[in-house]
Amino acid sequence: MSDTNSRTVIITGGSKGIGRSVAYRFAEENAKIVLIHFDPSDDACNETLDQLKAKGIEADGYRADISSFEAASQLFRELLEKHDNIDVLVNNAGITRDTLLLRMSEEMWDDVLRVNLKSVFNCTKSVIRAMSQQRGGAIVNISSVVGQIGNFGQSNYAASKAGIMGFTKSIAREVAGRGINVNAVAPGFIDTEMTEVIPEKAKENFLRQIPFGKMGKPEDVAEAVYWLCSDAASYITGQVIHVNGGLYM
Ligand code: NAP
Repeated sequence: MSDTNSRTVIITGGSKGIGRSVAYRFAEENAKIVLIHFDPSDDACNETLDQLKAKGIEADGYRADISSFEAASQLFRELLEKHDNIDVLVNNAGITRDTLLLRMSEEMWDDVLRVNLKSVFNCTKSVIRAMSQQRGGAIVNISSVVGQIGNFGQSNYAASKAGIMGFTKSIAREVAGRGINVNAVAPGFIDTEMTEVIPEKAKENFLRQIPFGKMGKPEDVAEAVYWLCSDAASYITGQVIHVNGGLYM
């Protein structure tokens, strides 16, 4: 792993929100950027790609449902053919389907577990052999503070995000000998489309619990992700870095 200008960085859910900020942060080192998103409208992805290309960055966007093992494997096969090395994988795609357990359908549980957790398995499995052969790389999985402390109405989401923490630590042990570091970043309450839909009352309640008294910005998360993929963090693996304004410490 090195801070040269040639790293290839794959960001799932890179079309908007936190993933987009991660892409912009890697653009600052002139990395080659691959964004993956799922919405049939490519608008957000195209907007992000336009911004990157305006900065002279080599960037591609792909639409795939990475919660499907088949779809993820197929896409990563293409990416591995196109790029000599995959240096960084940021498993960031995620969704919420919030409700109390009493009202939660099996579909709401399965959707969240598939998109948030199974996709991390699908994408990591798809790159790990190549990264092992190249004897280096960095993987950052986006978890959540909710995976650590739980949250009312988010049992599916909390389970998926806690699962990411366990997965991260296990894979970190498996591939450390290959020079690959695997970490998680657990954001708190970050200003993106995902949190736009939270009712005002619930937002106020969250804010009261945050020592900094404000929401985080996607850039706050992107900075931690970037750092974990830099040489400065090359002796760090299997960790969960919390970016939450003190909401959980
Ligand atoms: P966001 O703005 O809603 O973006 C989610 C991204 O995931 C989009 O690019 C979306 O693409 C992509 N995605 C969703 N389902 C997908 C699928 N099946 N296949 C491929 N891509 C898919 O969310 P965000 O707030 O930036 O969240 C990013 C990550 O941070 C998530 O894992 C989230 O759980 C986590 N997080 C967020 C917060 C927060 O407060 N915002 C806090 C803690 C953790 P399309 O729109 O094209 O479907």
